[in-house]
Amino acid sequence: MFEARCDQVVHIVGAGPAGLAGALTVAHAGRQAVIHEQRSDVGGRFHGDLQAVENWTTNADALDELAAMGIKPNLGVRAFHEVTFFDPTGREYPSRSSDPLFYLVRRGPGSGTLDTALKQQALSAGVEIPFREPCARLPEGGIVAGGPRAAVAIAIGFTFETDRADAAFGVLSESLAPKGYAYLLICGGRGTVATCLFDDFHREKMYLERTVEFFQRRAGLAMREPVRFGGAGNVMLPKTARQGGILFAGEAAGFQDALWGFGIRIGMLSGHLAARALLARCPESYDRAWRKRLGGVLKTSLVNRYAFARMGDRGYAKLVRSIGRMRDTRRWLFRHYSPSVAKVLLYPLARCRVRSRRGPPGCGVATCDCTWCRLGHTAS
Ligand SMILES: Cc1cc2nc3c(=O)[nH]c(=O)nc-3n(C[C@H](O)[C@H](O)[C@H](O)COP(=O)(O)OP(=O)(O)OC[C@H]3O[C@@H](n4cnc5c(N)ncnc54)[C@H](O)[C@@H]3O)c2cc1C
Repeated sequence: MFEARCDQVVHIVGAGPAGLAGALTVAHAGRQAVIHEQRSDVGGRFHGDLQAVENWTTNADALDELAAMGIKPNLGVRAFHEVTFFDPTGREYPSRSSDPLFYLVRRGPGSGTLDTALKQQALSAGVEIPFREPCARLPEGGIVAGGPRAAVAIAIGFTFETDRADAAFGVLSESLAPKGYAYLLICGGRGTVATCLFDDFHREKMYLERTVEFFQRRAGLAMREPVRFGGAGNVMLPKTARQGGILFAGEAAGFQDALWGFGIRIGMLSGHLAARALLARCPESYDRAWRKRLGGVLKTSLVNRYAFARMGDRGYAKLVRSIGRMRDTRRWLFRHYSPSVAKVLLYPLARCRVRSRRGPPGCGVATCDCTWCRLGHTAS
């Protein structure tokens, strides 16, 4: 069935942001897109948690870029200009940007989420999304956007209801999030508190307890009806995101900010670029296209991750202090995500050192139920 229709139809695996953005591009060009989704709805990896669409890796605004890809702005986003950072001692550094630093979205199935908004845009554009349809093999001319196939980090936390005013907080501390960060996001009466670990996964419960206690003490966190969540993310800069006429997009290709795990915007962009290459009947142009638009940011983020993982608490304290001193956090981050001579020179080393873990991480306990072990060491 696939082969007979593949000239007209673009088949896509996975109805995440990457697959949905790719399908919208195909549909807007007047071609039929079919997304095969193994779960019963979009956003099945997520649990209503708040996530941030970063707005600092380009001068151009993220929403303008999405609009240029044909994605309408009704994504339930809320612009944030301010974040309060804490250093490992709990010292507070407010930071501000004149333009939005990020756009907050809710993830998961159900109303009001980014995933549902994208699904509705796709269905209105004529995209077919057969749910509960796992797809193991695609015909030539398809896009694989099935999410992470390996993992380098986990995030665990709680979503909850709250009366607290909208706010965003981040903390860098080895005792809360080894080689990662912890965060508290509140928007419209809902909140997400989480720790994002790049190391020591099996002690996640301890890090999460410490994170909750930290934000209760320092940011007035009070949760109503907390629901626990957890997930993993992949980071890998592939030599190619193509196998013959099959193109890989989003986290399935390893496309994600390696420093802090921001993958939504990069995922949607890569889905769009993959679709454009297929529409042009030139799948081989995809590698050139993603390298041109995403290669610089992905490489720099790998170098940033390599350096960050070596900083420890003293380095984090300096980093947070320097963010706090900046008049505009977005500009500061833009500079640090832009390629420089030093980062280009460090890249080969960083590339060897920052690797997704595919094998058992060594919890060493057969009955361990930490997020890493539950995800079967490969993430989903
Ligand atoms: C807890 C957590 C917090 C995060 N926070 C942020 C954040 O604040 N900002 C940010 O930018 N990023 C964040 N990320 C990362 C971001 O969510 C992902 O990078 C993004 O969702 C990747 O999109 P994707 O389309 O590549 O994959 P996914 O969103 O994983 O979608 C893939 C889809 O493919 C389906 N699928 C998989 N295999 C098959 C198959 N064989 N057949 C059919 N369907 C299949 C899956 O069911 C899924 O629906 C976070 C990730 C986690 C886990």
